[in-house]
Amino acid sequence: GTWYWNRYPGARCDVESMFYSYGFDEELEQEWEWTERYPSQPEILRYANHVADRFSLWPHIQLNTRVASATYDTEKNGWRVTTESDEVFNAKFCIMATGCLSAANEPNFDGMETFTGRIFHTGRWPHEKIDFKDRRVGVIGTGSSGVQVIQEVAKEAAHLTVFQRTPTYVVESFNRALDRGDQAKVKAKYQDIRAAARKTFGGFTAVMNEQSALSVSEEECRERLEAAWNKGGIGLQFTYNDFGFNEAANKRAQDFVRDKIRATVNDPNTTEKLLPRHILGCKRLSIGTNYYATYNKPNVSLVQLGDNGIEHITQDGVISEETLYPLDDLVLATGFDAMTGSLSRIHITGRNGQPLTTAWQAGPQSYLGLMTHGFPNLFTITGPGSPSVLSNMLPTIEHHVEWIGECLAHLREHNIREIEPNVKAQDEWVAHGNEVADKTLRHGCNSWYLGANVPGKPRVFMPYIGGMPTYREKCSAVAAAGYDGFELTES
Ligand code: NAP
Repeated sequence: GTWYWNRYPGARCDVESMFYSYGFDEELEQEWEWTERYPSQPEILRYANHVADRFSLWPHIQLNTRVASATYDTEKNGWRVTTESDEVFNAKFCIMATGCLSAANEPNFDGMETFTGRIFHTGRWPHEKIDFKDRRVGVIGTGSSGVQVIQEVAKEAAHLTVFQRTPTYVVESFNRALDRGDQAKVKAKYQDIRAAARKTFGGFTAVMNEQSALSVSEEECRERLEAAWNKGGIGLQFTYNDFGFNEAANKRAQDFVRDKIRATVNDPNTTEKLLPRHILGCKRLSIGTNYYATYNKPNVSLVQLGDNGIEHITQDGVISEETLYPLDDLVLATGFDAMTGSLSRIHITGRNGQPLTTAWQAGPQSYLGLMTHGFPNLFTITGPGSPSVLSNMLPTIEHHVEWIGECLAHLREHNIREIEPNVKAQDEWVAHGNEVADKTLRHGCNSWYLGANVPGKPRVFMPYIGGMPTYREKCSAVAAAGYDGFELTES
């Protein structure tokens, strides 16, 4: 879904293609050829379609179907799923694979309906080619989607105005074509590399340097950061082990990126606006290709939004700080109602008719990010409370699929009709998740991890930040102990 909808110009994954791929089938991984270090959206979509073809999945998939509700039937111990076209499906188990970043956050700016130009959201991009030639384009938002779309639209538009609420840290991708030799090296030991990646915090190939940034001189720290920068990608975060925990250490990484911005951007005013001030990594690090240099182009200007944000949209454009910016097109790169949005947009009701939105009123509650008390037989893939967005999503999804698959086999084998986490196990898991998150610097900014980008959403750190190895171990131990923490009811 992600790669079907996010087809805006420049859409690309920031995990290396050879590892942003499935590891369950050796023939698949040996045969498929990735063309670039970081895969573009069309290439990932081709890969997903190829996997569906290769494993004959299409007969099991019903496209163009929006699920409206999922209701637990306590008598029958099963789920009743309805679609917006009034189809009804009954199933004993229901697995929500609705994604972490799939419910678009579309702010309803005052006067937006009067705008006479075109409006696009990066996460709901049209399928036909959108031409920005000779047009005055506005982009609202400078997160990972904004960064990518800005770089591309700047190449085409007559003028691009970027409306920035919070400047972001962008590291260079140094994307490049992958030749057969590059691929052969990985393919010769694919499974070994994947096994090693599983032992890292996020399931990525970059390995954390287990040293404090403060244990070395500033000069040495800079040299290492420079080397990491030149390798490209998110590995910069793993240069020292305390960037995520110690503000003084983190400041060294912040200063390094701020100096990169100063060295790249020509206009001092624009430079000042682009300098991020928050903890690096507190909001998701963005990966770009000449992002900061884009602001040296004569057809690009940057508007720093004031406290009132976008004040008004008129038929002609955007008004901020009483200035009208005339536009033909408006691109909303305003992100997602992350982690819970795709679930709360389906009317899910569990035991005793309790809506999931009520159970999660104060923030998502789950056991292992896999199941929620009061919602028996309902699984979530990469749900809140699991490492999900803090990890390499494809292997992480595979892990959940395998765990759920084995769980269902166990239930069938033991003639069990209902599985549900008990309150104690769930409360302990939620408390543990909060305790680990509190030890990090992630609470220090308004990120979507905390739900802070959506007005009114409770502020809770939603993904599990204890790392993939700890998480995998816990999931395996729970299963090995006969699904410890779950109530299993026999038929
Ligand atoms: P995002 O990180 O939430 O960024 C949204 C941007 O819109 C932020 O700059 C935000 O400002 C701004 N914004 C939101 N509401 C606004 C409003 N009412 N007025 C003005 N500005 C507003 O969303 P995203 O860029 O779509 O990225 C979401 C996540 O998707 C990423 O963090 C990443 O995990 C994933 N992603 C990955 C890639 C990749 O692999 N390269 C690409 C795209 C997305 P504030 O910062 O002030 O809230």
